[in-house]
Amino acid sequence: MNTDILKKLIGDSGNIVFFGGAGVSTESDIPDFRSSTGLYNSKENFRYPPEKMLSHSFFVSHTGEFYDFYRNRMIYREAKPNNAHYALARLEEEGKLKAVITQNVDGLHQMAGSREVLELHGSVHRNYCMKCHKFYGLDYIMNSTDIPRCECGGLIKPDVVLYEEGLDMEMLNKAISYIKNADMMIVGGTSLTVYPAAGLIQYYMGNKLVLINSSETPYDRSADLVINGKIGEILKQILE
Ligand SMILES: [Zn+2]
Repeated sequence: MNTDILKKLIGDSGNIVFFGGAGVSTESDIPDFRSSTGLYNSKENFRYPPEKMLSHSFFVSHTGEFYDFYRNRMIYREAKPNNAHYALARLEEEGKLKAVITQNVDGLHQMAGSREVLELHGSVHRNYCMKCHKFYGLDYIMNSTDIPRCECGGLIKPDVVLYEEGLDMEMLNKAISYIKNADMMIVGGTSLTVYPAAGLIQYYMGNKLVLINSSETPYDRSADLVINGKIGEILKQILE
């Protein structure tokens, strides 16, 4: 069985890096924006396409509408970590896994106990005043009506990478460094078609590249092991 091979590969490794996409959170009932059942393909009629509503220019020009959409569609406060999150936290605790690199903004890895989490697209749990840089938690955003403002009057922005915005280069470089030094790389819950996922995987130089995804990816042929399935179910098995 492929999970037995995965188990053995993990057993032989001491410097694992995990890179995860939206599929890691779907088992926690957070929809994958780009999947066939995700938001972008939903039959609901939004006034603007979701990509537009989650863009930097829309945030600036239609701040109220941005927050309306953001609060209702981007925040899943009831979501709890799933087996994938817990398995990764345990591998870190055992000293085998060095970092989780994620494209998700939900904070579920930290909730499960992971410590070294590189959030390439930011986090809904961090919000900053654009004027004085005072920090605000998610509660403040959810409890404010209309546009959340700082006590200084400044506009508060979620620390989430919106469309048209660049990634934090320092964090990206840190992620690259973890990947370069890893003896094993597990990629999960991503179809590897969205930037920067596909680019990052090319920095891995070892011979234990494992892809776990519900469907095929363009990198299946370069991987040393491909497992198709739900990542939570698969990672749970390797800990048994
Ligand atoms: Zn302020």
